[in-house]
Amino acid sequence: MSDNKNLNSLSEIIKDELNKYEHKIDTSNVGQVVSVGDCIATIYGLDNAMYGELIEFPNENFGMVMNIEEESIGCALFGSVINIKEGDTCQRTGRVVSVPVGDALLGRVVNSLGQPIDGRGEIKATDYRPAEMPAPQIMDRQSVNEPLETGIKAIDSMIPIGKGQRELIIGDRQTGKTALAIDTIINQKGKDVICVYCSIGQKNSSLAQIVDRLKRFDALDYTVIVNASAAEPAPMQYLAPYSATSIAEYWEHQGKDVLIVYDDLSKHAVAYRTLLLLLRRSPGREAYPGDIFYIHSRLLERSCRLCDELKGGSITALPIVETQAGDISAYIPTNIISITDGQLFLNSDMFNSGQRPAIDSGLSVSRVGSAAQYKVMKKVSKDLRMELANYHEMLDFSRFGSDLDKGTQKILTHGAVLLETLKQRQYMPLSLAQEVVDIYVAQSGELDDIRVEKIHDVLKLLDNSIVSKPNNIYEKINTTKEFNDEDKKFVITLLKTIKSTIKDENKKEINEE
Ligand code: ATP
Ligand code: MG
Repeated sequence: MSDNKNLNSLSEIIKDELNKYEHKIDTSNVGQVVSVGDCIATIYGLDNAMYGELIEFPNENFGMVMNIEEESIGCALFGSVINIKEGDTCQRTGRVVSVPVGDALLGRVVNSLGQPIDGRGEIKATDYRPAEMPAPQIMDRQSVNEPLETGIKAIDSMIPIGKGQRELIIGDRQTGKTALAIDTIINQKGKDVICVYCSIGQKNSSLAQIVDRLKRFDALDYTVIVNASAAEPAPMQYLAPYSATSIAEYWEHQGKDVLIVYDDLSKHAVAYRTLLLLLRRSPGREAYPGDIFYIHSRLLERSCRLCDELKGGSITALPIVETQAGDISAYIPTNIISITDGQLFLNSDMFNSGQRPAIDSGLSVSRVGSAAQYKVMKKVSKDLRMELANYHEMLDFSRFGSDLDKGTQKILTHGAVLLETLKQRQYMPLSLAQEVVDIYVAQSGELDDIRVEKIHDVLKLLDNSIVSKPNNIYEKINTTKEFNDEDKKFVITLLKTIKSTIKDENKKEINEE
């Protein structure tokens, strides 16, 4: 009798429990991998997942939500695809991708997730920042009013860059794009500017050379390198510039000036195209996804100069874009030209003819930098672009006729002197004073009677002579940012002395024309 009673109560309990059971699996925060391949996982579930959210897979693998569809979620995987298989469960983390930031990163090479890849041990970072951050509001910014010295004569004189500006470096392959950016980084030594070099889709061997150069010029101490090489999967290449910007923003928010180089955004666009084609998002123009403009604009809008209430820090961006056969009107170049505040166009014909850096003064422009240019530089270089334009026009013209009048000849000789003066070797950035003196001397016409191939020798002698004098005017110009009439006279006298000695020594070589 008592046995029956026990059984009854037990069935009651089971019935009760069954009634309470709801036939529903919670798919809001948990999902199941439906398929995986090519760094992409398609997931069923994760109903509440947000765009860009970090998703955790078994064995500490992570991915980022890139596609939200009715039935499934498309997730780009950062780790190894081999470790994730069909049927695995995954879950939301409620966070976006974050990277370590801070002074511990200086001198280090990291990947897109901020993990060290230089074999020099772990990075003890104290702070983390999300890789994607909204750009500062208009009221949080101030105008660009301080120059960023590149140490390259042609840039500082004609296409000046200001702190907080975005200046595109654009040109065909092997035209010295990376060289300009690296020289600019080297020139920041002792100028209290922190540099971030973000390498996207390049060979690891090229990056190793760059790191070696930076080390040799003591530039690594104030530089962070973010690398997503060509061997890395597309999601890592896509993420690299955003992570690099977050690393830069840390110092910007502390009131410091930062220079960031994205080398290069054409490869970044290709990585994004690969990623979204794998996610089966329909391709648009030139097979790029429809939001390709947006991915670059939201990246570059994060570079600016903050207002004084926010400590007045700045991020100056030098994005690099590679063109095909000099076509700056292709899709990605036009997009990025319209986002940035100007471009340095590198001409491959000029580069191959030995005019290096091959900056095409006709197609290059800096839309905000001239407001920030030092007055002393502005004064000596104000006619430079015009004179070079005149020179190029006359040069084309002179190809048709044999007899040239005196005026035309003068323009041609003077133009050739200016172009020669603007030539500059790699890894030799100059101080403001050296640039000012060189350009002043070339502009003065005093070099017009010297054979073009000898101009750099004369400039070198002048440089030595200025440095050897007791009161070095370079130091004066660099500190006071002034170059007065007395200094000009002094430089011209020195130059005349040098010219006379050269003439005596080697009359044939000089003054021939
Ligand atoms: P890529 O398209 O492969 O990235 P790039 O446009 O970045 O090429 P660099 O790698 O910077 O070009 O330079 C190409 C070559 O030209 C290098 O060998 C470099 O040493 C040389 N070079 C660059 N600038 C100068 C210069 N001012 N004077 C002499 N050589 C230079
Ligand atoms: Mg390059």
